[in-house]
Amino acid sequence: MHLEQLVLASGNKGKLKELKHLLEPLHTRVHSQKDFSVKPVAETGLTFVENALLKARAAARATKLPALGDDSGLVVPALKGQPGIYSARFAGEDASDRENNELLLEKLSDVPREKRKANFYCCLVLLQHHRDPAPIVVSGLWHGEILEAPRGKGGFGYDPLFFDPKLERTAAELTIDEKSEVSHRGVALRALIEQLTEDA
Ligand code: IMP
Repeated sequence: MHLEQLVLASGNKGKLKELKHLLEPLHTRVHSQKDFSVKPVAETGLTFVENALLKARAAARATKLPALGDDSGLVVPALKGQPGIYSARFAGEDASDRENNELLLEKLSDVPREKRKANFYCCLVLLQHHRDPAPIVVSGLWHGEILEAPRGKGGFGYDPLFFDPKLERTAAELTIDEKSEVSHRGVALRALIEQLTEDA
């Protein structure tokens, strides 16, 4: 299935940059929902997939274009899955990345290294239109651990605290290409592209 145009249902600059980069092979005209003044939807779901669907549906309805919703976040088993779907608003509704990272470090202050495992999770939902009954739903995971202090200047969100033991670097120490190769968003987007090309 070839998509002439697509709207990304997110206002997060870091995500938009990565998604646009990852979508280049599709040769699709990629818009962000801000270009259409779509208001951010209330994320009332309790799971990533519910929220990704809500975002995609709202953007598809408002723009009359196919829409891709991304809901993603950090899942820390030692914190019973927190911050999870609340990753963007962990330290409060308008919390900055720095505030969220500080709260994460505080909550993990007594947790030893071997128990600081964490996963980045990304769910992507593609709707052809707002009443599409058969969305494409894919997800991706990235395994890592949470350091005791931030490292690196790239990326966004929890990247400076998220250490990949195989690469021996934090997500914030990777280039956008290096991150895309291993990240939850990269894994999910490649699965989406595969489904789109299979259906072609
Ligand atoms: P959402 O926009 O509601 O899906 O929230 C996503 C939040 O999860 C972001 O604001 C970040 O805090 C976190 N997050 C998701 N993906 C990444 C990533 O690739 N790096 C760092 N943080 C991420």
